[in-house]
Amino acid sequence: MQTDSYRHKGMRRALVKLLRDKGIRDERVLAAMETVPRHYFFDKAFLEQAYQDKAFPIGEGQTISQPYTVAFQSELLQLRATDKVLEIGTGSGYQCTVLLHLTPHVYTIEYNRPLFEKARLFFRKHGLSPHTFHGDGSQGLPAHAPYDKIIVTAGAPVVPKELLRQLSIGGILVIPVGDEQTQKMLRITRVAESEFTKEEFNDFKFVPLLGRSGWDNLG
Ligand code: SAM
Repeated sequence: MQTDSYRHKGMRRALVKLLRDKGIRDERVLAAMETVPRHYFFDKAFLEQAYQDKAFPIGEGQTISQPYTVAFQSELLQLRATDKVLEIGTGSGYQCTVLLHLTPHVYTIEYNRPLFEKARLFFRKHGLSPHTFHGDGSQGLPAHAPYDKIIVTAGAPVVPKELLRQLSIGGILVIPVGDEQTQKMLRITRVAESEFTKEEFNDFKFVPLLGRSGWDNLG
């Protein structure tokens, strides 16, 4: 069983200070990131890397997102404790664990079978209970829609229409969209049944979103 020592807690405090300095303002997000032991998501050999503000390989050609990216996307979601949120791209399970500190109603879907199995085991071992699914999240998760919030943690070539359809009225989709090199972070709000507003933020670099509305069809 991994331990969470004073040293780890100190490194998390320093990371959260860095996130503040980089402009993250949502105190609930910062508190969640100060609470979740990011080193639990790393193999023992790489523990030193856990509290650097960097993405890191998690196997299967995928990455655990950079802490700043996790904080930025979480902040854009404006999560309330009653929100039902869908995460597309479970990966290591770190972003999902941060979300669980903001609302208990978290659904998460992963396309890669070994990563899905590993994350599911992790959640079970740590007594966490998001609703976990294996499948193509580029189509959302229609069986449990609508969602108040949807977060996509892989870079998409387009905004999948299926995700817009699965948002509740007033709901928010946060998704990086662009080419394979860089993606612009978008926040799309469903203001009425068929009316959406779009805000654009900074450029990021994500691994590609695969599946029917991802790079599988376009790349
Ligand atoms: N949220 C993750 C974390 O905290 O570790 C970061 C995930 S990584 C940047 C992106 C993840 O999206 C990968 O695990 C990848 O397998 C997954 N992915 C890619 N296309 C997907 C799809 N169509 N549906 C679900 N997951 C997908």
